[in-house]
Amino acid sequence: MSNRPVSVLISGASIAGPTLAFWLNRYGFAVTVVERAPALRDGGQAIDVLGAGTEVVRKMGLLGRVHEFSTGKRGTSYVDARGRRRASISSEVFNGVGAEGDCEIQRGDLARALYEATRDDVGYLFGDSIVSLSEDETGVRVTFARAEPRTFDLVIGADGVHSNTRRLVFGPESNYLRHMGYYISIFSTPNLLELDHWELDYNIPGKIAGSYSAREKDRAKAIFAFESAEIDYDYRDVEQQKRILADTFADAGWEVPRLLAHLPAATDFYFDAMAQIRMDDWSKGRVALVGDAGYCAAPLSGQGTNLSLVGAYILAGELAAADGDHTIAFPRYRRELLPLVEACQSFAEGVGKWYAPPTNAMIRLRNLNVRLLPYLPWRTLIGGAPQKVARTIQLPDYRTHETRAARKS
Ligand SMILES: Cc1cc2nc3c(=O)[nH]c(=O)nc-3n(C[C@H](O)[C@H](O)[C@H](O)COP(=O)(O)OP(=O)(O)OC[C@H]3O[C@@H](n4cnc5c(N)ncnc54)[C@H](O)[C@@H]3O)c2cc1C
Repeated sequence: MSNRPVSVLISGASIAGPTLAFWLNRYGFAVTVVERAPALRDGGQAIDVLGAGTEVVRKMGLLGRVHEFSTGKRGTSYVDARGRRRASISSEVFNGVGAEGDCEIQRGDLARALYEATRDDVGYLFGDSIVSLSEDETGVRVTFARAEPRTFDLVIGADGVHSNTRRLVFGPESNYLRHMGYYISIFSTPNLLELDHWELDYNIPGKIAGSYSAREKDRAKAIFAFESAEIDYDYRDVEQQKRILADTFADAGWEVPRLLAHLPAATDFYFDAMAQIRMDDWSKGRVALVGDAGYCAAPLSGQGTNLSLVGAYILAGELAAADGDHTIAFPRYRRELLPLVEACQSFAEGVGKWYAPPTNAMIRLRNLNVRLLPYLPWRTLIGGAPQKVARTIQLPDYRTHETRAARKS
């Protein structure tokens, strides 16, 4: 790298953005993160940190912190309309299946841990967004909705499945988004069902409603998913999304009305299509994409967070290895990561019909499978499939570039 550190603007402060910021900062880059929300966004589902994702968190020195936030979920039961448990599975059945250190954590808790690990070294601009990007041979001129225009050497979009950076540089979302036929919604509620680190799920054909207790005993998450062709809605209009959810589950039984009663007041409401982003390239000139923005695998894959952690680690590592030369680093980043992206995206195919089975017969079959699973000798093969996907690639080792950056500073 030349004497002046390479300046990088990252759009998005959720999982991919702060992870990338962490590593780029460690390699001696000058990093700024712009986040549209006025503050760090809370909320979201419990997500698994697995395999190569766990390894990235360990390398960041954050594994202990992440484990402090672990949800400690002990298992899941599938109930009928009267609340009778038709099938249950304990997390213990899969003990030892994953890599050491794998854990489940709320998305918001992970985002906070990553933010806290970077906020002293990285410039965060909350409540702002990129409006335009124009590139020449010296850098990318960026205008913002609020801040003064600035020029950066590189710009990275870590702004999620509906990426603003992707739209500005690569064209409309519809060219890349592949709807998987389901929608998902999550929001916090009091622990109405008095759950103790347990999840209860209720299925009717093509729909699932559930609740699981959060880390704090008196709080829980309500989770809904349903099968549907593409719905025309504004992904920034939360009230409209709440209405869609309430209408879809209006006639569902079990505890659904009690859970939905907390919908109007929910401040951490999340709603989105289960969709994938498929692109032939994740970079154009000095701009690249990381995480869901470039290669979302859909919540059905259960791998979105791992992909973001690993993608950010590799992108930063390749930029460091190439001394900031994006023409070398961006193609290498894609080559290294593509096998994991492909494994995660294909894993998501077909998961939906087990999660929200389309018929009552399929619901019964799924429940039977869940009841039998602990007794099957190949249970670890089935239960351990996500862990296997998460270990598709071996993480490259970029440690020499940390040492080099430390020597320069
Ligand atoms: C609040 C929230 C709740 C979520 N809940 C779930 C969930 O329950 N289940 C699930 O499977 N996945 C959920 N996700 C998605 C999940 O976090 C991602 O699939 C995964 O972790 C990949 O992370 P990412 O950093 O690539 O993208 P994301 O986590 O989607 O983060 C993108 C970030 O970019 C920001 N952003 C968007 N537009 C702009 C812009 N114009 N300028 C600047 N910043 C922008 C967003 O506010 C967000 O902070 C949620 C994401 C968010 C932000």
